[in-house]
Amino acid sequence: MGELGIGLIGTGFMGRAHALAFRNVSAAFQLPFTLRLAALADADPLRAQACASAWGFARAHAQWQHLIDDPQVDLIAITTPNHLHYPMAMAALAAGKPVYCEKPLAVSLEQASALHAAAQAAGVVTRVGYNYQHNPIIERARELIQSGRLGQIISFQGEFSEDFMADPASPWSWRCEAAHAGGALADLGSHLLGMARYLLGDIEAVCADLQTVHRQRPATSGSQEQRAIMVDDVTHALLRFSSGARGTFSSSWLKHGYKNHLSFEISGTQGTLSFDQERLNELRLCQMGQPGFQRLLAGPDLPGYAAFSPAPGHQLGYNELKTLEVHELIMALAGQGQLGTDFAQALEVERLATAIRLAAREQRWVNLSEVQGQFAAG
Ligand code: NAD
Repeated sequence: MGELGIGLIGTGFMGRAHALAFRNVSAAFQLPFTLRLAALADADPLRAQACASAWGFARAHAQWQHLIDDPQVDLIAITTPNHLHYPMAMAALAAGKPVYCEKPLAVSLEQASALHAAAQAAGVVTRVGYNYQHNPIIERARELIQSGRLGQIISFQGEFSEDFMADPASPWSWRCEAAHAGGALADLGSHLLGMARYLLGDIEAVCADLQTVHRQRPATSGSQEQRAIMVDDVTHALLRFSSGARGTFSSSWLKHGYKNHLSFEISGTQGTLSFDQERLNELRLCQMGQPGFQRLLAGPDLPGYAAFSPAPGHQLGYNELKTLEVHELIMALAGQGQLGTDFAQALEVERLATAIRLAAREQRWVNLSEVQGQFAAG
């Protein structure tokens, strides 16, 4: 069995989640490689050093380019703000190394197209952190849809809301810069767009409305200096799927009470299926003729669940989804798996987000074919 040297860039919320996943995946699964936590990099060299020793990485780099060039590093995991994904992933691909990049892939369709083209040219495995799709209960949802238990799918109602920016005094961060991130649509909505595609296939047209509610925020917590905010706080859209199904989409980081409300209701001619990430171990299903919804609870009959617990109802959490995502990545590196969002699929999420922005700007329906040629890869 070969070794795989992991190089992790970034030590924030997602840096820690990746480190936990890389540490846990060998305990949960039999892997085709022995994982070695080779190196970690962060813009803050003291933090890089402290996290490397706390999380078990062999060495720390103060410059991310040094981590990419490090011969001990075989796989590059990128957990930095969105605008840094492009230069970091491009450099990793130029070095011929596989890339596991946080979502969204990039801050523009042009960047995402170029990354996809570079990944194809490099011929390496790529994955993007759309971890919610790795929930075993989402696999159950797909099976229910594909088996026809809901009949012909008529509608998708999806929402991803949180409230971490609901207070107007919540300060500016990199998430508030269009050039660095792209607002609630990029931050939260990209997950929901990926999920909609994963469950119901291609979306061919969108119509949308974007709203910036708080046009200024303090530069830092408690500061009197105000910064202008140009990105969306809230986005609403209508979706037309290629299958003929219709849908609604919304993303907001202002919706009081919600902490991780990635949710959907999918209804067909024979039934309705509903999911909420805040109750990530269950689905609600109502089929024609039943008096109401039944609750389907995740258990060890789902292989991804069984990897962590033999007991039903004991529940998986967010970090287990990340571990399942890393497992699929490792299997793909061994040529044994296709699951997970690669750069080609992440590019389609970017195309959708771009179409939604264009539809909102021009206040009209936009067909996805309109954002094809102009931004073609290569
Ligand atoms: P964060 O601000 O908590 O962490 C960012 C990290 O990047 C920090 O450690 C920072 O020091 C480091 N960094 C910044 N510039 C750097 C540079 N030039 N070189 C090296 N390191 C640098 O952000 P976060 O919440 O962890 O988000 C990071 C990424 O993860 C974003 O793309 C975000 O969209 C994504 N994210 C994904 C999920 C998910 O569920 N998949 C959840 C949250 C965030």
